[in-house]
Amino acid sequence: MKVSILGAAKEVGRSAFLVNGNQTSILMDYGVLLKREPIFPMHVQPKDIDAVILTHAHLDHSGFAPYLFLSDSVETNVFSTLPTFDLSQLLIEDMIKISGFYLPFEYIDLLTMMKHSKNLQYREPHMINDFKVTLHESGHIIGGATILVEHEEKRLFYTGDINTRGSKLLRPADLDFDEVDLLIIESTYSQSEQMPREQSERELLEFAYEVIERGGTLFIPAFSVERAQEIACVLKTYNFPHKVVMDGMALKANEIMLKHPTFLKNAEIFKKSIGEAEWISGWNRRKRVVKEPCIIISPAGMLVGGSAVFYMQEVAKSDKNGIALVSFQGEGTPGRVLLEKRVTILDGKVRKCLADVKRFEFSGHNSRSELFEILDRIKGNPKVLTVHGDESSCTKFAEQIREKYGYDAKAPDAGEVTEI
Ligand SMILES: [Zn+2]
Repeated sequence: MKVSILGAAKEVGRSAFLVNGNQTSILMDYGVLLKREPIFPMHVQPKDIDAVILTHAHLDHSGFAPYLFLSDSVETNVFSTLPTFDLSQLLIEDMIKISGFYLPFEYIDLLTMMKHSKNLQYREPHMINDFKVTLHESGHIIGGATILVEHEEKRLFYTGDINTRGSKLLRPADLDFDEVDLLIIESTYSQSEQMPREQSERELLEFAYEVIERGGTLFIPAFSVERAQEIACVLKTYNFPHKVVMDGMALKANEIMLKHPTFLKNAEIFKKSIGEAEWISGWNRRKRVVKEPCIIISPAGMLVGGSAVFYMQEVAKSDKNGIALVSFQGEGTPGRVLLEKRVTILDGKVRKCLADVKRFEFSGHNSRSELFEILDRIKGNPKVLTVHGDESSCTKFAEQIREKYGYDAKAPDAGEVTEI
């Protein structure tokens, strides 16, 4: 088996790995790097691949897949779990609305891709010619998977984005399988530890009580898929007694997740948290709710768009209010500006944010020690490729793996080929 790196080389975004055997070629993920102008992975001809397998719905893993379906006559299939297809469709459709101008495909191509979608179940191997492909639960977002490819007695394991500690919404990643010859592992937080989840939850709760008890509104901008629902579940688990409202694309994600209860750790808690929250629609209600003492959860997580922009502007006007940032805040985003400078910018106007702003860690990725736990558990003497992290996270992680385990580990460049 040969693996070519088409993206996610020393960067977070545009994950894409081409796996070639003697007769079969598959693509694992085909994502975009989301910047003001999206950046794409290296190109592949659809006729040169037998299948695409998506680990999960985030656009940096799924967002470029419609490009393989520009023609109706394409025979390639795309494999993943049902929630991944439903959520990919939602997120890609939204990307087309926002960034369509920069994309080399259109909505119709997304529909063609969905016509070629084939659902896989976790732990049920599927033959793609002479490749045996198995998805395992990744714990990262609903429907998220890792990929195991077996071919001629060689075994490749790709983590995609992984969370082995689980969350309120999701079970931990499933690492129950045999020896591996090639491990492709994400490196997002390979050089940092995140705050223990329970501590983040308690601190968020404390902040929520503090803001509401002084009569304020707490606004929580959150990614529409997983993070918005995870926060609602955290509040429910601790029996938070005050009103919680949800808005924006998180509501569509709620509906999709309600359709797939078996993919959740505790469907009952999920249904309660979502069911008891108020789902906002319409500007009249939006304008009123922002003056009530309550929690508002709404995308976009980095405040780049959606109803979050309105909520941020309104909530920022009073020091009774609070803003809890629970998602990663990318360089140059309004969320990062708010966090670092305590200002909001709308139509070029800079305003001081009077509301109390705090950041909380709720990442869906493994921390450094948890990534090393994966290496402790993996059997065999694998080659290791460290991917999906910034340059130093990938490079240092590979170095540390070489030192600690003696494995042949490296942070590959785009275009590099590894053979097992
Ligand atoms: Zn992801």
